[in-house]
Amino acid sequence: MNSILLHNVLLNGIPSDILVSEGRFSRIAGAGKISPESAAEVLDATGKAIIPALYNTHNHAAMTLMRGFADDMVLQKWLSDYVWPFEDKLTPADIHKGSEIAVEEMISSGSVFFSDMYFDIEQTIDVVEKRGMRAAIGITVMENHSLAVEAEKLDFIEHWSDPTGGRIQLVMAPHSVYTVGPEKLRRTAEYARNRGMRIHTHISETALEVQNCLKETGMTPVRYLDSLGFLGPDVIAAHCVHVDEEEWDILAERGVTVSHCPASNMKISSGRFPYELAIKSGCRITLGTDGASSNNNLDLREGMKLAALLAKCVSAGPDRSLSNIGNPELLPAEEVFRWATRNGAEAFGIDGGEIAEGRVADALLIDLSDVRMRPCHNLISNFVYSADSRCIAATICDGKIITDLCR
Ligand SMILES: [Zn+2]
Repeated sequence: MNSILLHNVLLNGIPSDILVSEGRFSRIAGAGKISPESAAEVLDATGKAIIPALYNTHNHAAMTLMRGFADDMVLQKWLSDYVWPFEDKLTPADIHKGSEIAVEEMISSGSVFFSDMYFDIEQTIDVVEKRGMRAAIGITVMENHSLAVEAEKLDFIEHWSDPTGGRIQLVMAPHSVYTVGPEKLRRTAEYARNRGMRIHTHISETALEVQNCLKETGMTPVRYLDSLGFLGPDVIAAHCVHVDEEEWDILAERGVTVSHCPASNMKISSGRFPYELAIKSGCRITLGTDGASSNNNLDLREGMKLAALLAKCVSAGPDRSLSNIGNPELLPAEEVFRWATRNGAEAFGIDGGEIAEGRVADALLIDLSDVRMRPCHNLISNFVYSADSRCIAATICDGKIITDLCR
């Protein structure tokens, strides 16, 4: 029997017993109310609180290989002078190693899922399968990929079946409007929809991307993609930094999910995410780290804190009036926590993001004795603003503890 009893764990401040079986929370009751005999294994979780695990909706996992390799420069120079020449030399074994580093880092910092966009995807799939995580693995589509490469990808999709029985999904990942032409964007979206696959792309990351799209198509990226019939509830759009009010309404109407990547946007000076417009639109917003080459870590908990702080911060500039100093009420801890948990799970059709009977058992055990968690007036506030990875005693994915209870 695949089951574990979490004994005396704090759930919403209440000492509880939680029975996890076949990957789901099967029963939740007061501490001492569930018989230890009902589970194959009993874990004494005294002094630990349980919260939902994190879902990282935008990543290029194997780019951990470029962590610290080329920092502090503009996007175009970074890509053309450093990233692309480096990637030209990568072997499948390198991708495997980069994915291993990424997965270990994500698990230790509380993520149970990542949405990836890279190449040699068999390598990343192998790591995810072995380490017990979840992932949406993107089939990257670029305009310059040859017909042979395209055929190879289609062949892979047609013959692939999930070796984990539900933890891994394939998604189509047309890179962006500046690397994929209109016909291929349209065909990729159609192909994905015919197979019930999600679509993962970058949209309006930089002002330059928007300017070039306007020059070439007469439209901004969101309007252009909408004119192609590309946008829909199966689309996960990374960044969306340079998106105006009307475009936010289009994204919301089409049911697009946005993956906000605060660390990457700040590091490459892409711009400040328009929190006010995004929240007002009602669009589903999730969080991503982006690759470690532009972050430089894959710690989504840190991403929550950065997003919440950046939301509250507006540059006063020469105008010192009180109306221009930001809004501390914007994006409170509970809301950004929901972006990183339930919103991320929902966007990828995962029944997680909540500790409740019947839900998939993706969760974190938080060590309440860690100095960063004390005192604990508000658990989520502490986790968003004060904690770091050392406060995470265990990461649970699909009902299994994939880190050790080491503290
Ligand atoms: Zn990216």
